[in-house]
Amino acid sequence: MSNALYPGSFDPVTLGHLDIIERASRQFDQLFIGVIHNINKHNFFTLPERIALMKEATQHLENITVVSFEGLSVACAKKYSANILIRGLRAISDFEYELQIASTNKQIAPEVETFFLMSKTEYSYVSSSLVKELAFYQADVNMYVPPCVSTAIVAKQGEKSDV
Ligand code: ADP
Repeated sequence: MSNALYPGSFDPVTLGHLDIIERASRQFDQLFIGVIHNINKHNFFTLPERIALMKEATQHLENITVVSFEGLSVACAKKYSANILIRGLRAISDFEYELQIASTNKQIAPEVETFFLMSKTEYSYVSSSLVKELAFYQADVNMYVPPCVSTAIVAKQGEKSDV
């Protein structure tokens, strides 16, 4: 039985994340997706919204469990008996940050390995920040996110313009 955890903010989940999830889900019995609850970070979508969107975006996959956690990814991994952390790498700019996290995690939890999947070329520049920036200017984000996220963004824009 091999379990893996893919931790992230997923604010919101993009097609880049989804590609990593689909590819990782084929390699493990269970893939846990850990949506990070960081009280110090201001998110566009609330934690319950990010969880609901992730569940909807991954409902076609059978071995996915969406969970949320606060604190260390390795602690969350241990909680779900996952000895592998999944991270995605886009451009070289991701490398330094990811190396820092992976090295720290290795130090504090040597039994947990980090596996990196390279982004699909067409999603190598896609990020949640890019999507939020476009959404802020009411631009179309359909080509970067699953349909449930596009709908949720439009709904949020509606809420904001009602205020
Ligand atoms: P975090 O706040 O932990 O960086 P993100 O939701 O931004 O959370 O990203 C989670 C993981 O997904 C990170 O490893 C990030 O590099 C990876 N990732 C983000 N966007 C993409 C993409 N377009 N293609 C592949 N991996 C990605």
